[in-house]
Amino acid sequence: MLNAGLQLRRPLESEIGAYRRFLIANRALGHSNISELLKENQAGPKKHPALARALEQQICLKLGISYLEPRSPFSVSRTRNCAACARSGYHSYLFDLTWIEKCPVHQLDLVHRCPDCNQPWPHPYEFYDRRCKCCGLGAKFSVLARRKALEPPDMWQALVEMDAVIHNHLERQDLVLLRGSHATEYDTTEIKSAAVTDRFWPVVCVPRTPGWERLCDSFGVQLSPIIERRFRLKKPPPGSSRRHPKKT
Ligand SMILES: [Zn+2]
Ligand SMILES: [Zn+2]
Repeated sequence: MLNAGLQLRRPLESEIGAYRRFLIANRALGHSNISELLKENQAGPKKHPALARALEQQICLKLGISYLEPRSPFSVSRTRNCAACARSGYHSYLFDLTWIEKCPVHQLDLVHRCPDCNQPWPHPYEFYDRRCKCCGLGAKFSVLARRKALEPPDMWQALVEMDAVIHNHLERQDLVLLRGSHATEYDTTEIKSAAVTDRFWPVVCVPRTPGWERLCDSFGVQLSPIIERRFRLKKPPPGSSRRHPKKT
């Protein structure tokens, strides 16, 4: 009988985090048994994360528990994680945004490599080959569930708040002239439109309030000042492609 690992579920999981949780919860079955079970659904290994999600959805429906859809990443840049989150079987999609530097729960820097085995965080098909307790299938489910129990649910509140801010401001694309701040990354005369994957998105797209500054601080986000804001990008007419003005 497959287990969805709902005891380990926390808000704002990434797709890879949700799949890893599923494998951790069923680690006693072994790789070949899980592969066999998922193969019954006539799909290759690449489809396994999606099948694990479908199974979780069915289990939630049966138990009357709300199903939380894991978040797909904004970009396919290399995954980063917090070591303590990794050890407790968690990864948030927020950790892949380049301007987020710290895990707000554990106040640890987000890193590209597992600090225990020094390998990059694994792809979904690599979990079974990792013997590492931090980035592989980790400790036993019961041990992980106990670790999770040490963290009260309100510890994840900052992630929920950050997700809400991002989705409330996602449509906003201000064009800004950057001068002084971020000078090493952006030419001082360059005009850019801000997308959520850009480092300066939190500075230009969210109004600066004490609440936002506090939230940014808990994620290690640098809010450098914007010296000059030029104009706001208008929505392009449907079908037209947008070009950024060229530097002169
Ligand atoms: Zn963490
Ligand atoms: Zn490792």
